[in-house]
Amino acid sequence: MKKIGILGGMSPESTIIYYRELNAGARAALGPLESADCLIASMNFGDIQRMQKAGDWEGAGALLSRAAKGLQDAGADFVLLATNTMHKCADAIEAAIRVPYLHIADATGMKLRSDGRTRPLLLGTAYTMEQDFYKGRLKQTHGLEVVIPDEDDRARIHRIIFDELVNGIIKDDSRAAYLDIVTRHAAAGADSVILGCTEIGMLLNDTNSPLPVYDTALIHCEVALEMALT
Ligand code: GLU
Repeated sequence: MKKIGILGGMSPESTIIYYRELNAGARAALGPLESADCLIASMNFGDIQRMQKAGDWEGAGALLSRAAKGLQDAGADFVLLATNTMHKCADAIEAAIRVPYLHIADATGMKLRSDGRTRPLLLGTAYTMEQDFYKGRLKQTHGLEVVIPDEDDRARIHRIIFDELVNGIIKDDSRAAYLDIVTRHAAAGADSVILGCTEIGMLLNDTNSPLPVYDTALIHCEVALEMALT
């Protein structure tokens, strides 16, 4: 099995999901007592979030690049960044390492395409929904017609991520707010919903969503395990 290098802590709540999924997947693939060979560099999310707010993407890219190189030097065979938003720094990270980098939007885009989806609703932080680094890649590299919520809904989604989910807080009324947004976009013609923030799976999943769910954290783990096991 290859050693998976994980840039985590953004937030720790989502890194817990990655750690659980990777180990459950390794056990399912290889049998009882088996687990994922991985290294986690867990960043202080407070530092990351301050850099986001200040627009210091260069500083964040330098910080994450150093951590990625640390994972590589410690023996990681490939590296993944366990957050969608910080993929704004993906080019800097990729340039800093020799080992492969598993981009979360590529893992997600390929999965949607192989399921024949064309018009996904994208939920995530305001950075992810509004800027081009993520949805542009889904459009240009994967040919998806990405739909994003309107301004009020984007603000609501963003607030719930930063006030609640990254702090491990799960509220029924926040789940209802997300479901309302997904339901309206289903009626307007979206054919799927991308949980483009690695904590949104704490609220939405295939059992409660009116649209087929593409949870980026789970997809990223699935593809990482495939890479680790081949
Ligand atoms: N984990 C989140 C994401 O997937 C948000 C936290 C962050 O800003 O990195 O975008």
